[in-house]
Amino acid sequence: MEATISTYGGIVVSLRVPDRRGNFADVVLGHDSLKGYLNDAAYLGPILGRYANRIAKGQFTLNGITYNLVRNDGENHLHGGMKGFDKVVWRARDVSTDGEVALELSYLSKDMEEGYPGNMSVRVIYGLNREKNELAIEYFAISDKDTVVNLTNHTYFNLAGHAAGHILQHELMINADRSTPTNAGSIPTGEFRSVEGTPFDFRRPTPIGQRVNQDDEQLIYGHGYNQNFVLNRNGSVSSSLAARVLEPKSGRILEVWTTEPGLQLYCGNFLDGSIRGKGEMPYQKNQGFCLETQHFPDSPNQHNFPSTVLKAGAQFRSTTVFKFFTR
Ligand code: BGC
Repeated sequence: MEATISTYGGIVVSLRVPDRRGNFADVVLGHDSLKGYLNDAAYLGPILGRYANRIAKGQFTLNGITYNLVRNDGENHLHGGMKGFDKVVWRARDVSTDGEVALELSYLSKDMEEGYPGNMSVRVIYGLNREKNELAIEYFAISDKDTVVNLTNHTYFNLAGHAAGHILQHELMINADRSTPTNAGSIPTGEFRSVEGTPFDFRRPTPIGQRVNQDDEQLIYGHGYNQNFVLNRNGSVSSSLAARVLEPKSGRILEVWTTEPGLQLYCGNFLDGSIRGKGEMPYQKNQGFCLETQHFPDSPNQHNFPSTVLKAGAQFRSTTVFKFFTR
């Protein structure tokens, strides 16, 4: 495996992995140059923060103080705002060890940046394990004031190769009995809904496209799959299997392991060919899928969701691993 990561946005620019015959392909959507990323509105590959996904009306109250965040998605706040962690330059350091090539990215998010309280120091370590064919991402954060945090990576995968067309034939398994349905503006209603009998039931491997056009309110609101799943973690505090994806022609398999409670499935529903990516490839609807390990959207306003509050001086830590296999 080979990975390219940029200091701008901590973006996974390329990820080359073998198929069952040993042929390599770049399995992530992206751009050939920085310019492409500077103009990118689709979040191809970056770290998202300070809060990945949405906060309703860009507002939350913490310790009795109401904070107003930048509203960059209609009336809501999305992926950390106008200048989230995807649009800043991170400091890079080689932290490789014997079996693993590792890159540490760090960034200081200033008090009130995009409206968030507290100076927050963030570190993200990308590790590439030669023996295991895996890309591990470790996230750390610490703040000098109470704040909220939700960090993820927004890579669009296409296991047949970034230029190989849509991902609707990829077979997806998500280890989740429930999801968090939303209103038409993609803000969770607060309900935990069983996936049983719905197009969101991926407990058995199912082609992504098999039910995507069903007449389902949540698919209509999301313009396809765009929903947070409540992972079955059985009380585990260590990393557990969140999802597995097989691309039948290449035989490439991706597994996602995480310590996070949620997983956002987003299938490039808003790609429309207007973004030209690597090799001038126009990226079309459903050309990639994102499996964003995270806390649930809008948690700062949803009191029955796991908390995203980071107390002053406390260490935030989470891990996500993308493992590759072939069949
Ligand atoms: C969200 C989508 C959003 C997309 C932006 C995803 O994480 O769930 O609603 O449009 O990011 O690329």
